[in-house]
Amino acid sequence: MYNHIQHYINGQWVDSTENETIDVINPATEEKIGEISSGTKEDLDKAVQAARDAFPSFSQTTKEERADLLDRIADEYEKRKDKFIEVIMEELGSPVNFTTEVQYPMGLNHFRATAKLLRDFDFTEKRENSFIQKDAIGVAGLITPWNFPTNQASTKLASAFAAGSTVVLKPSTETPFAAVLLTEVFEAAGLPKGVFNLVNGTGSTIGDGISSHPDIDFVSFTGSGGVGTKIMENAAQDIKKVSLELGGKSPIVVLDDADVDYAAKTAISHIAGNTGQVCTAGTRALVPESMHDDFIQAVKNHISEYPVGDPKDKSTFTGPQVSEDQWKTVQDYIQTGIDSEATLVTGGTGKPEGLETGYYSKLTVFTNVKPDDTIAQEEIFGPVLSVITYKDLDEAIDVANGTIYGLAGYVVGNDPDNLTKTARSLRSGRIVVNNEPADFTAPFGGFQQSGIGREWGDYGIEEFLEPKTIVGLPS
Ligand code: NAP
Ligand code: MG
Repeated sequence: MYNHIQHYINGQWVDSTENETIDVINPATEEKIGEISSGTKEDLDKAVQAARDAFPSFSQTTKEERADLLDRIADEYEKRKDKFIEVIMEELGSPVNFTTEVQYPMGLNHFRATAKLLRDFDFTEKRENSFIQKDAIGVAGLITPWNFPTNQASTKLASAFAAGSTVVLKPSTETPFAAVLLTEVFEAAGLPKGVFNLVNGTGSTIGDGISSHPDIDFVSFTGSGGVGTKIMENAAQDIKKVSLELGGKSPIVVLDDADVDYAAKTAISHIAGNTGQVCTAGTRALVPESMHDDFIQAVKNHISEYPVGDPKDKSTFTGPQVSEDQWKTVQDYIQTGIDSEATLVTGGTGKPEGLETGYYSKLTVFTNVKPDDTIAQEEIFGPVLSVITYKDLDEAIDVANGTIYGLAGYVVGNDPDNLTKTARSLRSGRIVVNNEPADFTAPFGGFQQSGIGREWGDYGIEEFLEPKTIVGLPS
């Protein structure tokens, strides 16, 4: 059992002001794996005060000191590889291969990439008669979701520490134990007390408390659009800066010269990876009319290469949904697809055969989906793909851009002009051509209702800084 019924405040684990706890469930077994404290506003106040007290000295450290700190954090993170993998598998139900190859390194990469960029980052700049100095923003409140337990916390934390800001983190109640392990990492790396504070508890108490706290200067949030709106409303009361990383309904534009097997496997991997619980997942495959039948046949041929099952089994590609609630949401969307005029290619409602225990869904593909259908417009956050056909590339680009989101976009094909035209026309924060791996130094974030602000690398650091102009500075 992973019991952590304390908060980490001012460099030590402290009891909560109340004894209430929250159970944490392994979604593959439906069994309780531990409990965390359900924090109170008083606990949050103490954490904010600790961060406030630590700010004057931490914000005055040099960038070299902070870059060294980030590298020490990365070293300590690496020493705990097996622990991170075990914890993420247990609390998220993330399969062993995906956890090892994707979940584990993503958190690590943010600390390494930020350390490297920080050494070359300019905190000052001279213009005509002005001197510009970028100061740390102050105390940041960080609120994270469950789908990548170390990735989202790590990108925010690496940027905050690089900028010289101090923080209070509230992780998701679904996956709180990866953040406990991060705390161990920071202690081992010698992070000064009060720079990092962890308060566990619900979004409605601790999350709401962060976004309305008068002593918090900046809220960095990753999660759903509905909660993002509430955070903005609270933050508006005292003009608090917010950064929001929200949802998506990202397109995969398959060009007419794409290899059809490659395109189909790309699309399947987007809904199968992390059980489709990925904000950047490509969940709308836009396929030329002339390629449609071959594409659907290729999907049928390859779908069994992405088996759903026990996260501990090395042959498993897709695990369960994170919770029963998420499973029900996904099931409702699959039913909505079945009730529409779309055609079910594979999958459907219910659990896959032999997987009655655990919140498992079937990998589900619909075709003949219309661009405005519910399943083509709303984020499902599960393993559901909508295939939409197009006549020419201009139509594909229009359809690709035709949602309220703009987090990511994918292009698959060969012709360099068409790849370039499509990639440059998509209105999204991150476009991936032919499955190129991620660049952790480049900005990450969304257009439209996918969010406000950018994370990762130097763009991430900028979010935690306030530029100050001084004119007439004696030289
Ligand atoms: P969520 O319900 O928005 O929760 C995210 C975090 O916000 C959790 O820690 C949650 O606490 C907290 N929260 C809940 N209500 C709050 C409130 N009133 N005020 C402040 N915080 C509050 O989202 P989720 O279900 O965890 O994650 C799924 C969603 O996140 C999807 O829509 C997905 O697209 C989005 N997402 C976006 C990105 C990105 O980078 N753009 C990445 C991952 C996920 P609890 O522990 O109580 O739930
Ligand atoms: Mg859980």
